[in-house]
Amino acid sequence: MFMPNRTLLKVIVLGDCGVGKTSLMNQYVYKRFSKQYKATIGADFITKELEIDGKQIWDTAGQERFQSLGTAFYRGADCCILVYDVNIVKSFETLQNWHDEFLKQVNPSEPDTFPFVLVGNKVDVDGGSCRVVSERTAREWCASRPGNIPYFETSAKEDYNVDDAFLCIAKTAMVNQ
Ligand code: GDP
Ligand code: MG
Repeated sequence: MFMPNRTLLKVIVLGDCGVGKTSLMNQYVYKRFSKQYKATIGADFITKELEIDGKQIWDTAGQERFQSLGTAFYRGADCCILVYDVNIVKSFETLQNWHDEFLKQVNPSEPDTFPFVLVGNKVDVDGGSCRVVSERTAREWCASRPGNIPYFETSAKEDYNVDDAFLCIAKTAMVNQ
């Protein structure tokens, strides 16, 4: 069906196991949070219909999980969200691998301007007292990448900044449509 003002965005969410990828998406799409932990290996992607600047971004509702991430998973990606846990340094250190793997798989024609967004999640944990990666360090990482990677600090648990992060992601992705 032809839908002139609708754009389907494929947003891929990458990051270490347990950083909160699924929780962020659930919070964004369904406005709910669960303490239950079902491991997702590598990534998820979501789909949601939303409206930005009068344009509808069309997608089906729901979410899918993948056990292994082959080329098909990445194919047609419009944007990539890289997520780490601000309380776990390793999840920050592996961002570069996720970033590189993504570019390798997607192989975009202009990798330097491909839309990435960085999300530092779980800022709520113990009121921030176990935090090990500072906002400044994260912003420095963003600044050291080609392009200008936007950065958001979120809590999927407390629904802090989640909508703003996803809105930015959609806008970033749409620029490349
Ligand atoms: P994924 O493997 O990256 O998809 O991670 P999940 O979304 O499954 O989350 C892993 C665990 O972290 C779950 O127990 C979540 O409830 C918890 N979690 C996710 N986001 C947050 C958050 O912002 N704050 C807190 N305190 N816990 C979170
Ligand atoms: Mg998951």
